[in-house]
Formats: sequence, structure tokens, C-alpha cells
Amino acid sequence: MGGIGSGRPSSNRDTVDSTRCIDIRFMRRMGWLQAGMAGTLRWNCNGLPSGDIRYRVTEHSLNLNYRYRINGGDWQSVAQTVALETTPCHYGGLRYWFTCPRCERRCALLCGAERLFYCRQCYNLPYQTQLEGAHGRACMKRNKLEKKLFGPNRRRMWAHTRDRLINELVKAEDAANQALIAHFKDLYSDIF
Ligand SMILES: [Zn+2]
Repeated sequence: MGGIGSGRPSSNRDTVDSTRCIDIRFMRRMGWLQAGMAGTLRWNCNGLPSGDIRYRVTEHSLNLNYRYRINGGDWQSVAQTVALETTPCHYGGLRYWFTCPRCERRCALLCGAERLFYCRQCYNLPYQTQLEGAHGRACMKRNKLEKKLFGPNRRRMWAHTRDRLINELVKAEDAANQALIAHFKDLYSDIF
């Protein structure tokens, strides 16, 4: 098996979808990302449990605890701390990010393709088309609207146009969130 970032050729198996993934937007949307929150993230695959991870959220980090083994070998306990970052949204509020523990890039998705959780780029994982489909389209629309609303032409915009675009932006953000929830329907959490 190729190591991290060794440029494994992409196949149907090696997509983000077939791996344990943690999406920060999804966690936040579900209310699992508040400081002091702890629980177990559980993944299902075809209705059967396919993994679980204990997590604890602090103000600046997400701490993960789980067991890992390779090809039926001995189980090892793994503890990983992932730093959290926030950036301001154009229209108020904060957007949350993981800091990838390997490359330190800001990312919304962490993948547990091997022992540790890293960003998609570190594991060289392509998105599966489904997520690029619904979620990608909604995100593209949101980005376009953000550009229009907050770009260099914003001062010449009529108030009613601005209001209409903000409405569309809220809808696009919602569509992006719904697509994520549909995509992660097999991931759920028991909160302690
Ligand atoms: Zn990374």
C-alpha cells in the first residue's frame, strides 16, 4: 500500500467517500463542535457499524481517541489532537476550519485513510462524484454570490439587488449544508 502522499493512483476504492471522514461543517451544523462537547462519532456502511471514534472539543482543538489496526494485526490506541481555526464570514458569524496535523493547511474535511487523520491532499484522495455533484454545485453558487456581493462592484449595487443576492446566498449555504447532511447520513454521534 502506498504511503501518505506517495501518489497512489486513484481508484474507486480510494475516494474520500470510502474512508472515515470528519467534516467540520457537518459537525458544526449538527451542534457537535461546541467547546466542552464530547461524544462518539460512529460511521455506518450499508447499515452496519464501520467504525467509531471518541472525541472531545475544546476551544481551540478537536481531540480524537480510537483504536487502529492493520490487516487484522494488534489493536493500537491512537490519540490525535487537531487544532481548530476560525475565519470571519463576509456576512457575519464565523467559519470553522481544521488545521491539518500534517501539512498545517486549513481544511474542512479530515480523512482517516490510514492511522491518523489528515486532509484530503495529504492522503491524495479525490472526492467522489456525488459530493462534488450536489455539494460542489451549491458551494460554487455560494462562491459566485459572495464574489458579487463582496467584490469590487459592491458599492454600485442597488439595495434591492443586494437584498436579493443575500437571500440567494443564504439559500445556497443551506443547500450546501443539506447536501453535506445527505452525504454524511451514515455518520452520527452519541453525545456524552
Ligand atoms: Zn494535510
